[in-house]
Amino acid sequence: LSRGLDLLRGLPCETTDGFRIPLWVNTGLLADVVRAQERGAEGVGLYRTEVPFMMKERFPSEKEQLAIYREQLQAFHPLPVTMRTLDIGGDKSLPYFPIKEENPFLGWRGIRITLDHPEIFLVQVRAMLKASEGLDNLRILLPMISGLQELEEALRLIYRAWAEVRDEGVDVPMPPVGVMIEVPAAVYLTRELARQADFISVGSNDLTQYLLAVDRNNPRVAGLYDYLHPAVLEALQRVVNEAHAEGKPVSICGEMAGDPSVAVLLIAMGFDSLSMNATNLPKVKWLLRQVGMAEAKELLTKVMLVDNPQVIRSTLQLALREFG
Ligand code: PEP
Ligand code: MG
Repeated sequence: LSRGLDLLRGLPCETTDGFRIPLWVNTGLLADVVRAQERGAEGVGLYRTEVPFMMKERFPSEKEQLAIYREQLQAFHPLPVTMRTLDIGGDKSLPYFPIKEENPFLGWRGIRITLDHPEIFLVQVRAMLKASEGLDNLRILLPMISGLQELEEALRLIYRAWAEVRDEGVDVPMPPVGVMIEVPAAVYLTRELARQADFISVGSNDLTQYLLAVDRNNPRVAGLYDYLHPAVLEALQRVVNEAHAEGKPVSICGEMAGDPSVAVLLIAMGFDSLSMNATNLPKVKWLLRQVGMAEAKELLTKVMLVDNPQVIRSTLQLALREFG
């Protein structure tokens, strides 16, 4: 494994006909950084900032956050690091910030919490900005956006944090700000959201859960949770088209991006980059290097005509054998 990995690490993720697709990693712990580097990641598409928050007994201070974020930014510099603002609620709760609700996944989650508590949001963004001083590889990503007002409010707060740190003498540019598309409403608003954001990133884990109305963690309905459901694929294609219509890059950071044969479909749809678990990155890179974009598009056309997720899966498996 290690020799193969070594060889692959230095090679670009490029189709046989020359399309380059940066492969990014999802991180949370510092250990993820080492594994990402061993596997030749070209940046971080999703840094889940709630992970370091979960390991504390109270909200980390601005100074503590700054140190944690600086480690991430420095480790990957000059490659981009996409830091998602705190995404708690749903299934992720902090012991020191308990939330009790009947329907946590439809409740107080992600951006909803941080817009209701701008002091938490501002401290976090200030820490990110300060951490990026002299590195300038920070990108900020907003989770659980379901409407334009949330994006506008978040952008206002980010500008405010930026103005504050500059007043303190920290010389940093305004970082690119992106929106996660993971709520069905946002799929239909991608065009408008993309107009105001710098980039789009699809959170297909939540998007699948919300589109299909299937709890992503409930074993009883696990058989119904399928990111190859035709409705999910339709939604993804729509998001790519709408983001591109505004000239904005679009990536995907849900688990499906790390599924090699699915990655072939995603590049055919037009995703500009894929972000995944470091473990899957070499497999995805290896496969994408065997495939031509024309072949990938043919496969996508075939799959989009199928209405059964199981048949889609076996079609992909078959294609995988041909490519590999
Ligand atoms: C997602 O929803 O697809 C995603 C990447 O975020 P998380 O899994 O952290 O909710
Ligand atoms: Mg999510």
